[in-house]
Amino acid sequence: MRQTAVLFCLWIFGVYGVQTDFDSVVVGSSPICMCEAIYRAKTGEQVLLVERAAECGGAWKSITICGIPNVDLGCHEFGNNKQVEQFLEEYIGCRMIRNAPKQKGKGVKKSDWGTYPQRGCHEMSQNLQRLMQEAGVTILLSTRLEKVFIDKNRKIAEVQINGSRYSTKKIVVTAYSEIEIENVYHINNTRQSKYPHLYMLVRDPAPTQFTYHQPSITGVTRLMNVTQFTGLEERGFQLISLQVRDEKALDQGAKYFEELKRLELISRSAELVCMESYIYEQSVFDKSVLTKAGPEAAAIFEQLDTNHISNISKYVDKWKKVMAPCSSAH
Ligand SMILES: Cc1cc2nc3c(=O)[nH]c(=O)nc-3n(C[C@H](O)[C@H](O)[C@H](O)COP(=O)(O)OP(=O)(O)OC[C@H]3O[C@@H](n4cnc5c(N)ncnc54)[C@H](O)[C@@H]3O)c2cc1C
Repeated sequence: MRQTAVLFCLWIFGVYGVQTDFDSVVVGSSPICMCEAIYRAKTGEQVLLVERAAECGGAWKSITICGIPNVDLGCHEFGNNKQVEQFLEEYIGCRMIRNAPKQKGKGVKKSDWGTYPQRGCHEMSQNLQRLMQEAGVTILLSTRLEKVFIDKNRKIAEVQINGSRYSTKKIVVTAYSEIEIENVYHINNTRQSKYPHLYMLVRDPAPTQFTYHQPSITGVTRLMNVTQFTGLEERGFQLISLQVRDEKALDQGAKYFEELKRLELISRSAELVCMESYIYEQSVFDKSVLTKAGPEAAAIFEQLDTNHISNISKYVDKWKKVMAPCSSAH
């Protein structure tokens, strides 16, 4: 009798596999993570997406700065990949525009042009979050995935969130997911990078001179004029974000403001109304540590290649198999 029960359990196990709370847990909510979560949910998986920040988007999220809501964090370029542009337009419902300068500020190059959502990154993140909800992805914002426990025998993992444990077959990570694995990997603070930004709200009713630009200003890596995504244009203001080399450069705002004038990127008569800084932090996850944990652990993790947004093109064929074009686009 006991032998029959054991055989029955083995049969059930073989037919239905191990029962877990989730089929996959996605760590982080940058655009490629959100698309992957939608894809997995559409294939019938129970998907949990955990995001430490209060909003979706990762390095593409929106922030409130100088009192203006839904401003793109930092300076972004999507590049010119047609496949990516079409996917974002048809499947994510973004209205993509050519991110070209309306006027040519001094030194603005053709290579500074590219595709971009008409209402900025906020449009993309908002659409992706809505598509995740529609696909049935469980989304936990302001929530950190605290620790991972590997169950080598059952070939599953448990993730610790708010002190509770949930089992999963897969953990989808990126090179910037902050992951601690019990007995394998502890978070190392030296693996954290900081990306400081200065935002300048200026009174300048003139037309914007550029959108994305890599200027020749010492200490400034790149610039973005996000005015057109914020509705400020009609009000005679411009909002400019400057990614600067290091935190010390955040003190150089007054100098950079004069440089923007000298390079004719804003009017000579422009007035600085507000200057605020924002530092984005990323931690680097070294997936090679998984080899220490053995092949069972490595098989539980799947790492997405998120280094550039154009890497969407690596996944679109797979995603399109189950995702439907957006009828409610725009
Ligand atoms: C400031 C900045 C600007 C960039 N600009 C561009 C650009 O213009 N074009 C381009 O193609 N690429 C750009 N990149 C590259 C960028 O890294 C990728 O495009 C993409 O955002 C990487 O996605 P990711 O998910 O790997 O990392 P991130 O975008 O950093 O997202 C990681 C997310 O995971 C969350 N997270 C991490 N660990 C946990 C955890 N344990 N629990 C819960 N949540 C967690 C974080 O809160 C974060 O939201 C930029 C990167 C930065 C930092």
